[in-house]
Amino acid sequence: MPIDQTIAVISDIHFEPVPGAGRPNSDIADILLHRAVARLNDIIRPDVTVVLGDLLNDAGTPGATSRRARLRAILDELESPVIVIPGNHDGDESAFYADFERPPAIVEVAGMRLLPFIDEDRPGYCASRRPADRDRFRLAREGFGGPIVALQHVPVFPDGAVDCPYNHLDAAEIIAAMNAADVTISLSGHYHAGFPPLRVGPTLMASVPALYCAPFSLSVVRLRDGCPEMESHALAVDPALQLCDYHVHSEFGYCAQDTSFARGADLAGRLGLAEIGFAEHSGQLYFLPDEYWNGECHRAGVDGIDPFISRMDDYLAAGTAVRGPGVKVGLELDFDFQGRAVLQPRDRQRADHLLGSVHRLAVLECEDPDPVEIVEAFLWMVDAIVAQGVDILAHPFRIIRREDIELNHAILDRVVTALHRTHTAAEINVHLGGPPLEFVTMCMDRGVKLALGGDAHHLLDIGNFAQHLAILEAAGAPADLNEVLFRLESCR
Ligand SMILES: [Zn+2]
Ligand SMILES: [Zn+2]
Ligand SMILES: [Zn+2]
Repeated sequence: MPIDQTIAVISDIHFEPVPGAGRPNSDIADILLHRAVARLNDIIRPDVTVVLGDLLNDAGTPGATSRRARLRAILDELESPVIVIPGNHDGDESAFYADFERPPAIVEVAGMRLLPFIDEDRPGYCASRRPADRDRFRLAREGFGGPIVALQHVPVFPDGAVDCPYNHLDAAEIIAAMNAADVTISLSGHYHAGFPPLRVGPTLMASVPALYCAPFSLSVVRLRDGCPEMESHALAVDPALQLCDYHVHSEFGYCAQDTSFARGADLAGRLGLAEIGFAEHSGQLYFLPDEYWNGECHRAGVDGIDPFISRMDDYLAAGTAVRGPGVKVGLELDFDFQGRAVLQPRDRQRADHLLGSVHRLAVLECEDPDPVEIVEAFLWMVDAIVAQGVDILAHPFRIIRREDIELNHAILDRVVTALHRTHTAAEINVHLGGPPLEFVTMCMDRGVKLALGGDAHHLLDIGNFAQHLAILEAAGAPADLNEVLFRLESCR
């Protein structure tokens, strides 16, 4: 049966940017929310997103407005409508709704009616609902046959039905009102472990886990013909998989958003990675932004490097501060139009790992280039790159994709052969769509290792491998991914 409606549920963000001032991971809660938003926009595409309270860890300390503004700016990137309600940590309701949009009593979206409740706090972190609010279920059902969804911070469930110490003191009355109005699902937060959905009469009742608690889950409700099913999506990768991300940009990148050595190195382990490798564009380290973007870097190549302009020493020095077990500092090499690495020999020795990328081709500088010539130039460049000794060919087909040229078997085979001959790994990079599944399968069949690359310019993309793992699964990867994934053995 087709899915009629999808609701994304996020709760208990508990954001506090000062490390140690909040709870464990409160200081990265904004990044977690950003990752959740990207996951929702790119993959889940819900009809509506609901945020069920405790956005801040403590709204009572100075700066609450700016902390809320940070979260608001992230939520504004959501492509779906969003409903935000406060929790017991969010303080004064009017201050809260000065920074977020106050939802109406009944929100109509995608053929559903969602009822956001702001209940009164009761001792023991419990709550109770005003009688007028309990009557909202009946009002919502009048003249409406579709799904009704209850939203609140503190859970609602029959006393004793789940092992959760927080409930509404008037849960029995609320449940009676929900059942009478044939409410489809009741969604809560507050209980950070969450509890699985429980059916009471026609109504499913669930409490979703806290976003700030590892593995940082968001929940998704899918309604098929009015029947709800719940899924959980972890934003961290499973540490047991021992995954590595060798393609992370730093504050030295000209296209960096919020990435940095310090924050990236700190986040990697918390997001479940076994190893992180920074890889800044070599051309951006040697050349000024203008020279990089206008093609001067790729025309002149290594001969055009001005030691007074180069930031390579600064980059490697800054990397030294974070380099260590599980943290590598390497380079994403640019190649000039003659196919030469934009890399000084002494810098090769100083990098832990090297990615090679086709970012530009001379043929593409001409007007109206012939697709056959583009493909030939591309394959020639791939051969040149792998011949010069790189660990990973980054985003192998991006430039071809950009030109809208079809990737046929012959092109894939030429690239796989070059990689195989030189023991170079192939990156799975999902910016502009992942590689063809056929390519991934061919690599595995011929023993070419695969490297997962977040290609992070935003912190949220570090080890953000949901799509990468889906590609591996679709390509028939073995359960033990270590058999097919690339891993740096040691420092070069
Ligand atoms: Zn909470
Ligand atoms: Zn709470
Ligand atoms: Zn690149």
